[in-house]
Amino acid sequence: MNYQRSSALFDEAYKYIPGGVNSPVRAFKSVGGVPLFMKAAKGAYLTDADDNQYIEYINSWGPAILGHTHPEVLEAIKKQAEKGFSYGTPTELETEIAKYIVENVPNIDQIRMVSSGTEACMSAIRLARGFTKRDKFIKFEGCYHGHSDSFLIKSGSGMATFGNPSSPGVTPGTAKDTLNARYNDIEQVEDLFRLNQGEIAAIIIEPVAGNMGCVLPENNFLQKLRKLCDENGALLIFDEVMTGFRLAFGGAQELYNVKADLVTFGKVIGGGLPVGAFAGRNEIMDHLAPKGAVYQAGTLSGNPLAMRAGLTTLQHIKNDENFYQNLSKTTETLDFEIGKILNSKSIEHRINRKGSMMSIFFHINAVSNFDEAANSNHALFNNFFHQLLEKGIYLPPSGYETWFISDAIKEKEIDKTLEVIRQFEYS
Ligand code: PLP
Repeated sequence: MNYQRSSALFDEAYKYIPGGVNSPVRAFKSVGGVPLFMKAAKGAYLTDADDNQYIEYINSWGPAILGHTHPEVLEAIKKQAEKGFSYGTPTELETEIAKYIVENVPNIDQIRMVSSGTEACMSAIRLARGFTKRDKFIKFEGCYHGHSDSFLIKSGSGMATFGNPSSPGVTPGTAKDTLNARYNDIEQVEDLFRLNQGEIAAIIIEPVAGNMGCVLPENNFLQKLRKLCDENGALLIFDEVMTGFRLAFGGAQELYNVKADLVTFGKVIGGGLPVGAFAGRNEIMDHLAPKGAVYQAGTLSGNPLAMRAGLTTLQHIKNDENFYQNLSKTTETLDFEIGKILNSKSIEHRINRKGSMMSIFFHINAVSNFDEAANSNHALFNNFFHQLLEKGIYLPPSGYETWFISDAIKEKEIDKTLEVIRQFEYS
């Protein structure tokens, strides 16, 4: 493929934007090569600046669950845009989407809209601290909860990709209140509670992790965390920025039948526009300003374009009773067929999958935490990524990321993807 224009655009961007990108993982630093500059997206396809087309498995890192530029969402945004982009006042639409989410997600009474998943998680931690009057919280190595300071310690996503999971600029004062445990290791969590008695405000977790590749909770891990939180007076925060409305309409709480005290959202609830949210029971959410003392605010929070795009996306999903079943079926087919092809080439691998999230780890062993994800063959992943890209299949550009399957991926796209993988040359 010819990447001439992308290459020129990257050189130009590099002069004016740090590293040439507005979010690090877009720079292809992990897989190498020039990041492709996209100019259009429709359904299951992306078109780059050189007019190359790709079947795509990133879907804007999760939001585009219906595929890109879905006609219903597009129409809804256009109609709203004619009435104004942002008012900075309350709107009826905000209550409409809040009510809709509260009625459909288990165990939440109120929801506060923000503009990103980072804000949602940062605010949820602040609220948990304000509510419990405790400072510390537990997170898991390889999980990513956005780029707020207290999360950037042994973090996943771009942090893992660049081999530097902790960021300069985070002060030791901030870092001391972030306690890390290994994903799926309940004994480490028990130890942390024992060593920090009465000090832990919350556990925050990706209930299905997507930022060290896709890693699933095992051996009732989520249920055990619930129990530990109850025993120790701490809140359980499910970071459902990725999983919310993607794995099930009620998210991981519904899927695993575990109640969280606070839930964060992003991605799908914005339908492709910038949105995040956090939600919980009245007794906790009532502590939030202006009703309570825990402060949180945002100029564009509840932005009408984003609310309309989000609500239209959620309603579309809800109206299709086979939506999640179909997405899971597509993902399952990809998993089984790709597995068969890789086996036929004697390539050691593991595919982790839940609903419409999946990752391939080039690893002989099962992957259930960050260390195991890190031990897989990332050089082989990079080779796999580039060979597929060259033939029009666009995967997330890092072995630490999850593929997001959209509803626009149908038989034709699956067939083409498998055909390309069959041609993969393993050396
Ligand atoms: N939480 C999870 C689980 C995420 O995957 C992400 C982003 O990928 C975030 C939080 C941060 O969201 P945002 O990038 O919208 O700030």
